Amino acid sequence: MARIFWFRRDRRLQDNFALNTCAKAAITDGDKTVIPVFWFNAAEYEGLSGLRQHSLTESLKALDESMDFSLEVISGVEMSSLVEYAKKNRASFIHATESFDPEGMAEQRSLISKLKGTGIELVLEDSYYAVKPGTVEKPTDGTPYRVYTPFYKAWFQIGWQSPVKLTKGFIWKSRSVKSAIPQPTKQATFAIRAGEAFALATFKKFQKGAIMDYSENRNRPDLSGTSHLSHALAHGEIHPRTLLAPLNESDGHTVFRKEIAWREFYADVLFRNPHTLDDYYEPRFKAMRYDTGPKAKAKLERWQSGTTGFPMVDAGMRQLVQTGWMHNRVRMIVASFLVKDLHLEWQHGAKWFEENLTDFDPASNSHGWQWTAGCGTDASPYYRVFNPILQGYKFDPEGKYVRKFIPELSHLQGAEVHEPWLLIDGLTNGYPDPMLDHSIERDESLARLEEIKVK
Ligand SMILES: Cc1cc2nc3c(=O)[nH]c(=O)nc-3n(C[C@H](O)[C@H](O)[C@H](O)COP(=O)(O)OP(=O)(O)OC[C@H]3O[C@@H](n4cnc5c(N)ncnc54)[C@H](O)[C@@H]3O)c2cc1C
Repeated sequence: MARIFWFRRDRRLQDNFALNTCAKAAITDGDKTVIPVFWFNAAEYEGLSGLRQHSLTESLKALDESMDFSLEVISGVEMSSLVEYAKKNRASFIHATESFDPEGMAEQRSLISKLKGTGIELVLEDSYYAVKPGTVEKPTDGTPYRVYTPFYKAWFQIGWQSPVKLTKGFIWKSRSVKSAIPQPTKQATFAIRAGEAFALATFKKFQKGAIMDYSENRNRPDLSGTSHLSHALAHGEIHPRTLLAPLNESDGHTVFRKEIAWREFYADVLFRNPHTLDDYYEPRFKAMRYDTGPKAKAKLERWQSGTTGFPMVDAGMRQLVQTGWMHNRVRMIVASFLVKDLHLEWQHGAKWFEENLTDFDPASNSHGWQWTAGCGTDASPYYRVFNPILQGYKFDPEGKYVRKFIPELSHLQGAEVHEPWLLIDGLTNGYPDPMLDHSIERDESLARLEEIKVK
């Protein structure tokens, strides 16, 4: 009897409950062998941006290396290729971490239906979260939370298990053929570092340094004040339990725990409302007037290329394309700009983020967008429009972040980068004039909001 472990968004060996169960069961079975498998859709991989292809490939290479190059990689359009593989290897069980997002759940359903009549059992366990999506609910009536703060309190009270160490005494089945880890067909602008060992080292560095001042510095894109662990969390190279376990009650630790909880909140919201992956959480916003047609397309292209003429927006959009990551404060600024200054639907921005973020996460992305657009969870009224110029002065006070990503403004000093059009030589290097007047577009947004209020 053989056991397969199906790696999904949990590409690590430690603190992996489902893998540990599989390994222990293999020891009990007597043959002690675990067959590690990763399944992917080749056409979907081909459709990814260069940065995303490289980040997935590097993640798989690191996983493969951590298990003495035993990882079997199987591709297919449907899960039947995994079923065929299991049959060929006389597997009786496929173990995996349970997924709670729409795509992961569809994979599970498909696999379960294709396993019918084969005698092979799918054993799903745990999740990519400290607390399983669908667990936290109001004690009064058992309904889910629509607002983050009470969710956080209830989530914290439920608590989570301690990280688990992978049992010893089992063996990986050695691979018979050369690895089929997908190889990028597109360029990435820089080398991506991935894998469990790198994630653990990154966390260690964060614990020794930036976490102490995290509560003050996490909003500053000009400082390296955050953990940069989102890539590792999105790929499952580290589990949130591992991050939460050593935290104490100091300011930095508490705020970091609260940020981890945002990820858990959005996963819970998406699990309970799968349509909100690409549809409105607050349905009335669907009826709002949004810009469409060739002019809207041209506006979207200026936003994507980081040439809106608003330095803080453009620096963020260029950081995204160049590095596959963007600081959280700037994600909010560029998202607000797309929806409230350009009057485009949030899904256009979410799609661009999905294509370019190496930390892309379906729940955090869709709901980060909807929160900022005002059509999502939480008391985030639509009239709270971010002013991209004032945000620049406040969160990049010396202009360092803007200068780093906009070389056309590198000749300017300090905070003057945030309004280069006010300076005689501000736009001499080809940086564009602002494409719109923020105060006019803000009023326009509020007027459109009034229209749906009346309706
Ligand atoms: C429009 C928009 C889109 C976003 N899309 C994604 C996405 O696709 N993938 C993604 O991982 N995050 C997304 N975020 C959340 C957040 O911007 C990133 O998690 C964060 O910038 C990652 O950097 P870090 O690891 O240094 O974060 P840290 O500040 O060190 O936070 C630690 C971890 O907490 C979680 N976290 C922190 N802030 C948030 C938040 N606001 N929402 C959800 N989780 C959070 C992340 O897992 C993060 O890695 C989005 C936010 C917005 C506003």
